[in-house]
Amino acid sequence: MFCKKCQSILVPKKKGKKTVMWCSECKKSQKDVKTVMSEKVKSDDVGMEVVKDDVETKSITNATCPECGHDKAYYWFVQTRASDESATQFLKCVKCKHQWRDYD
Ligand SMILES: [Zn+2]
Ligand SMILES: [Zn+2]
Repeated sequence: MFCKKCQSILVPKKKGKKTVMWCSECKKSQKDVKTVMSEKVKSDDVGMEVVKDDVETKSITNATCPECGHDKAYYWFVQTRASDESATQFLKCVKCKHQWRDYD
C-alpha cells in the first residue's frame, strides 16, 4: 500500500482502537485504505496460510531455527487478529525454509 500523495510505503499505526495506514512522509493517515490483512484473516489458527512465498524480498534477522539450528531467518509481520492487536512476527529459516511464529 502506498501513499496517494507521495507514493511512500504506508505503515500500520495504532490510532485508538483502530489501526490506520500511516504515511511517514506526509505525517498523515490514509483513511480510505483498509487494513486488508485483518479482514481476510479472522481466526488465530490460519496465520500460517497468509504467508506468501515472497520471502526473498524480506529482511533477514538473527534467529535460531527450531528445525536445523541455523541462525539466520527471514522475518516479516502479519496482522492475524483484530486490528487492535499487534501484528505477529513470522520467521522463515534461510537454510531449510522452515517457518515459525515468534511469540512475545
Ligand atoms: Zn505521503
Ligand atoms: Zn532451519
